[in-house]
Amino acid sequence: MNLLTVVVPCYNEQEAMPIFYNEIIKVSDKMKDLVDFEIIFVDDGSKDGTIRVARHMNSIDSRVKYISFSRNFGKEAAMYAGLEKAHGDYVAIMDVDLQDPPELLLDMYQYITNEGYDCVATRRITRKGEPPIRSFFSRRFYSLINRISKTEIVDGARDYRLMTRQMAQSILSLKEYNRFSKGIFSWVGFNTKWLEYENVKRVAGETKWSFWKLLLYSLDGIVAFSTTPLAIASLMGILLCVIAFIFICIIVSKTLIWGDPVAGYPSMICAIIFIGGIQLFCMGILGQYVSKTYLETKNRPIYILKEEDKSWNP
Ligand code: UDP
Ligand code: MG
Repeated sequence: MNLLTVVVPCYNEQEAMPIFYNEIIKVSDKMKDLVDFEIIFVDDGSKDGTIRVARHMNSIDSRVKYISFSRNFGKEAAMYAGLEKAHGDYVAIMDVDLQDPPELLLDMYQYITNEGYDCVATRRITRKGEPPIRSFFSRRFYSLINRISKTEIVDGARDYRLMTRQMAQSILSLKEYNRFSKGIFSWVGFNTKWLEYENVKRVAGETKWSFWKLLLYSLDGIVAFSTTPLAIASLMGILLCVIAFIFICIIVSKTLIWGDPVAGYPSMICAIIFIGGIQLFCMGILGQYVSKTYLETKNRPIYILKEEDKSWNP
């Protein structure tokens, strides 16, 4: 029988894990004639009892496995590690807070096996229960990144998806350090079916994403999947040169023809500050790309393992 691996990144999720486990076991019972389950909890350097819960579940159910990081490496790293460890012919990525309804797995599985899709992904069509300001910026982000990136980033797409081994393997082949999964999933291609559902509230614990973290993450996404900001920087340079040239022509001809005295200390200061600002802005853009390049060339591992259950090396 085929094996389906569910990869579950967990960061300080001791309350949510038992609830998640109960739900996923219900689904696996429902699907027991179709496919076997393997559940991998990736403890992303949690500071609470997440690892103890994972150990306990592993001791009572051999389908549950876990790995644990030496510190918090982020959800992207956790997903990567989980994909690397997965044995399944099919691999799902799912949040532990039940915001990704486990019941959908059956539909997803059937789309892949019966209709030949390589991947079934999910997107939420509402943002209920989210602060309006966050929704506003999320929308702006998606419309911006889709305008400047060739890779399609679907608005409201979750990381919750089921994919074939082949697709999981190709995601693993992208070994970049700055991982922006929403882009990576789309970049690798393959036939993706989208399921839509309404936003669900987290079952326990709280979200790990502050507004600030999300903002930085969205900047990472832009730098990782578009070089348009660099082009904008050069365009602004050209534009300023043209404006400066026109100004020079006007001032020179005014002085030569009418003998105007060149005045205007305030306007000069304005111009200096304006140009200085644009220069710093463009250098900032450049700096973003250089810093990402710097981190990539260091070739650091995406995560560091501290503990894993015995099933990995019996
Ligand atoms: N997560 C993680 N590492 C982190 C942050 C989050 O593994 O540094 C996990 C978290 O435990 C959860 C999933 O990623 O299973 C989604 O996190 P969360 O629910 O906080 O995000 P939201 O649903 O609010 O976008
Ligand atoms: Mg969540």
